[in-house]
Amino acid sequence: MEKLLNEMSSQCKPAYSVNLDVEYDYQITENLKRNSYLGLPNIAESDLLRHFINLSRQNYALSTTFYPLGSCTMKYNPLINERIAKFNEFNAIHPYQAQETMQGILEIIYKLEKDLCEISGLDYFSVQPAAGSHGEFTGLLVISKYFKSIKQKRTRIIIPDSAHGTNPASAALAGFDIIPFKSELDGSLSIEKLKEILTPEVAAVMLTVPNTLGVFEKSVLEISKIVHDNGSLLYYDGANLNAVMGIIRPGDMGFDVMHINLHKTFSTPHGGGGPGAGPIGVKAFLEPFLPVPRVELKKSKYILNYKKSKSIGKIKSFFGNFSVLLKAYVYIKSLGSVGLKNVSEQAVLNANYMLAKLKNIIDVPAGGKCMHEFVLSPKSVLKNSVRTLDVAKRLLDYGYYAPTVYFPAIVEEAIMIEPTETESKETLDKFIEVLIKIILEESNKCPQKVKDAPVNTPVKRLNEVEAARNPILKW
Ligand SMILES: *Cc1c(COP(=O)(O)O)cnc(C)c1O
Repeated sequence: MEKLLNEMSSQCKPAYSVNLDVEYDYQITENLKRNSYLGLPNIAESDLLRHFINLSRQNYALSTTFYPLGSCTMKYNPLINERIAKFNEFNAIHPYQAQETMQGILEIIYKLEKDLCEISGLDYFSVQPAAGSHGEFTGLLVISKYFKSIKQKRTRIIIPDSAHGTNPASAALAGFDIIPFKSELDGSLSIEKLKEILTPEVAAVMLTVPNTLGVFEKSVLEISKIVHDNGSLLYYDGANLNAVMGIIRPGDMGFDVMHINLHKTFSTPHGGGGPGAGPIGVKAFLEPFLPVPRVELKKSKYILNYKKSKSIGKIKSFFGNFSVLLKAYVYIKSLGSVGLKNVSEQAVLNANYMLAKLKNIIDVPAGGKCMHEFVLSPKSVLKNSVRTLDVAKRLLDYGYYAPTVYFPAIVEEAIMIEPTETESKETLDKFIEVLIKIILEESNKCPQKVKDAPVNTPVKRLNEVEAARNPILKW
């Protein structure tokens, strides 16, 4: 792996090099030089070290605890990714330096796009979007421009009510009207209901497969046919690719456009707002509309092609979040096709293991089997008006990151759990034990303790409304 990347990085000639051993001759004139010492406080190195280590310990991190955060795919991120992302040859490239001097970077983008095509069954990819939501927005702009080019006025996007909130937000931002699609109690979609709302104004239907309840849409092929018969396109929200990678391909199911959250399935540490990458894939007829520049291979040289007259234009500075792309590429190459398939199988197995242990104790509206995640509804077993929010806060006291709660909105008091493939049986068992203890035992015997949680964290329970309206961002 490192050999391969060494070869590619040797194709990059950084515009500058970061060498801390060099003494620079800055030629500062005398009148600008300081003539007294800086009045910095004296702090022992050990105190300083402890200060920062203790601060870092107030953070939740995958290196210290389990993140059951549904819909976010908080898996372990191999450290080799970080090492390679630090290579000077990748890091010290200036985006404006000549294309011949950054062939290695362009090659990685080109090959990553090809790998994503293979994984997804779509024909072309653009790795520019900086997040899943940004990918949705970019994909919807492509759809909009496509319909303009064939002179069809289609202004509506159908989105199931179990979708991530970014779906309607992206569609609105791209200038579409949103038609909500009411899903069934188990999260599945009714063909009859779809037919009722599928009018000639519909540009696309956005589906999340598997959906956020962890259910694979069984009618997906039928939906694909109905949508295409109506002249509309089918969009695949690929944030949950961790469940199906190497097993099925959205392109084969008839999807025309999709995004992939590289920071989720392809392992970049994310959370707290970044960094991410949400490449979009399209079928061949939509390629002319992809953002510029396109990375192309001409006479065995990689070039950046800005001359695409139908393109939606530029949607991100330079070529995307390259370090995230690099990590995804390293991840794909280290695991290979068998490894990627294993990831999905293990992710689905882990989620089903947890579900099997919980489903006889806590209600599961979507049934007893799931893909990579599942949603519990503990309403009927919680006592003394303890709510899901209190359970999530109490988990913090036991050292766990809280799971996603109250999402999707179609499940009352929802708790959404995604264990990912990188957790051991022991970790899952311990978490299940604690979750059951809080829900069954503590809500019954010591409800106030649960309602006051968290008490062991650096910041105690917040007044959520007050914290959102009047945040205190310094102290
Ligand atoms: C995470 C997620 C998104 C949004 O992706 P970001 O990278 O956070 O913008 C969209 N859809 C689903 C289903 C998701 O889980």
